[in-house]
Order: sequence, then C-alpha cells, then structure tokens
Amino acid sequence: MADKAQDPRASEWTTGLLPVMETFYSLQGEGANQGKPAFFIRLGGCDVGCVWCDVKESWPAQLHPQKTFHELLLDVQHSGAQNVVVTGGEPTLYDLGDLCRSLRAISVSIWLETAGTGPIRGDFDWICLSPKKFKPVLEENYPVANELKVVVYNKSDLEWARLQSERVNESCALFLQPEWSRERASLDFILPFLLENPSWRLSLQTHKYLGVR
Ligand code: SF4
Repeated sequence: MADKAQDPRASEWTTGLLPVMETFYSLQGEGANQGKPAFFIRLGGCDVGCVWCDVKESWPAQLHPQKTFHELLLDVQHSGAQNVVVTGGEPTLYDLGDLCRSLRAISVSIWLETAGTGPIRGDFDWICLSPKKFKPVLEENYPVANELKVVVYNKSDLEWARLQSERVNESCALFLQPEWSRERASLDFILPFLLENPSWRLSLQTHKYLGVR
C-alpha cells in the first residue's frame, strides 16, 4: 500500500503540534463502538476535574510531549488501524481541524470522545459526548452527538442523565456507564432504570475486565 502519509495533499496539514499523553492500538472497550479495533490518541490537558477521573495524569497539558500531526499520522499508518479515537484529557481544548484533515488523507474513520465543554473543531465520523457534572457542556455540542454516554457514580446521576438526553438529537444512542470503582454496587440502581427506560443501553468498560488498554 502506498505511504499516504507522504501524500502531498496531507503535507500542508501535518505541521501542527498537540500534547499527547499516549497512543496505542487496541479495542474500543465501551459505548456504541465497543469491541471495534481502534488507534487511540489520548491528548494531554483537561480542566473538567471529575473526582473519579481514571486518567488524572492527563490533566496538566505541559507534562506531555508535543507531537506533530505527521508523527501521529505515521503512528496510525504503522498500526494498520482503520479507526482512530481522539480522546483525553479533554480534546475540545484544541482545534482538531488540521489533525482531522491529516487523518482524512489516509481514509480512517475518526471518532471523538469528549465531555463537550469546549467547541468541537474538526470533522468527525462519530462523536461520543460524555457530559460531566463538574463543567457544563457547550450547548452547541448536544445536537451533533452520535452517542451520549453518562458515567453513573450516584443514584442521582440517573435523573441528571435523563435531563442530558433531552438535549441531544433523536437518533443519538444513549448509554449509562457505571463508574468503575462502584460498578457492582451501582448496577443495583442502574439495572432497574434500564429495564424501565429501554431507549438507554448499558456500557461497561470491557477493556478493564480484559486487562488491556
Ligand atoms: S473529562 Fe475525562 S479526563 Fe477530564 S477529568 Fe473528567 S474523566 Fe478525567
């Protein structure tokens, strides 16, 4: 296969820099695309401050090395991935338009995982909006979400999730995901909610069960 990263169409978009905490090729463990292979780009930097965050080391952007779009493009190509997940941290801190244009040149599907607190800048094939109580979602991000994934920590989060679902579009897939450290206990109230509200589905962090990233 031709090295599309060398494609002259891409060259003008590959000079930007982003703080990158880690990249890896694995399975998407949760949500609507659960079980599909994907290359993950975890950006550094987050100002949302979830108390139960499992990637707190991502928060200070300056702790993470800057990578060029071109480096990221080559990493994706070398993995052989057909899907790329841009996650964080909080990716909406950055204008991802040029990164998306770079990735378009190698014909991968581009998925975004975001708390939606900033403007979504970029062309994504799938947007997973995971709103957090700790910082409000930018109103313009609700209607463009393909998937609403609410992490449930307390029982009161169920009502909050329902309120969030009133703001997304009608075709948006709805997921409740128990917070990992309370998963077993919170299923006691999540399961009855799911049985009474069949438009919602359960999302489990299967990658954690499997012990993979
Ligand atoms: S938005 Fe994500 S990365 Fe940021 S604090 Fe919350 S869980 Fe952690």
